[in-house]
Amino acid sequence: MSKPRLDGKVAIVTGGASGIGEAAARLFASSGATVVIADVQDALGEAVAASVGPRCAYARCDVTDEAQVEATVARAVAAHGRLDVMLSNAGVLLPTGSVMDMDLAELDRVMAVNFRGAAACVKHAARAMASGGGAIVCTASVASLQGGFGPASYTASKHALLGLVRAAAGELGRHGVRVNCVSPGGVATPLSCALMGVGPRELEAMTVPHNVLQGKVLRAEDVAEAALFLASDQAAFISGHNLVVDGATTAVNPAVLHTVGL
Ligand code: NAD
Repeated sequence: MSKPRLDGKVAIVTGGASGIGEAAARLFASSGATVVIADVQDALGEAVAASVGPRCAYARCDVTDEAQVEATVARAVAAHGRLDVMLSNAGVLLPTGSVMDMDLAELDRVMAVNFRGAAACVKHAARAMASGGGAIVCTASVASLQGGFGPASYTASKHALLGLVRAAAGELGRHGVRVNCVSPGGVATPLSCALMGVGPRELEAMTVPHNVLQGKVLRAEDVAEAALFLASDQAAFISGHNLVVDGATTAVNPAVLHTVGL
């Protein structure tokens, strides 16, 4: 099978200034797309866009503000004539505490970015794609499937996001718009390192003993490859799917695996 390509396509990557979004922006551009990085980290976003090259630009866009999402989509369409791909990837993971102590204002902040922000991206991307089709990919998480991977606020936001993706896939198929999720396990990025209070190499060392795929480390680039596939025409009949990129962590119960001697 040849590598997925995005030649001639126009893509927006939210949260593209850092981590998984940055890796995706680089991969989408090197796969032929024109890429708009939409983020709130202006200096970093500008620097990443400049390093990617002339087919990549940065746009300030706080996804919690629907008007900014709408304007970012409109500017991309005005500049490039179309929108083919939306990678709704911006996310936060705040230490909202255990359920009994949960800070509900922080819960609102998590939902505002991870769920409501993604809903705005799906809505305005779908409107732009409704006449010519397109692919929307949302970065969810293994926390879209199971508890225990992060605070309840984060888990709830990613479960909600998966529901949104499935509902949107159902409605948008008639317009030729596919909607999917990519759901990573733990990747060493500023988001996960800040939560754990460690650096990237330390975080990777912490995850290795728990990996079902022994000796392997999940990297942002691995997640970007999965997003590229879902965004590309190679995934032409895939919609409403949650592509888990976790080396089987959510497919098996490692504790039981060891208990039964396997
Ligand atoms: P990251 O912190 O490196 O990147 C997140 C980006 O989102 C940052 O550039 C940040 O500025 C941007 N962002 C935050 N709030 C925003 C807003 N309101 N508007 C626009 N941009 C905003 O973290 P990451 O790990 O690359 O996270 C990317 C996505 O991957 C998130 O949705 C996260 O939940 C998901 N994810 C991460 C992991 C992991 O282990 N790192 C695992 C599963 C899922």
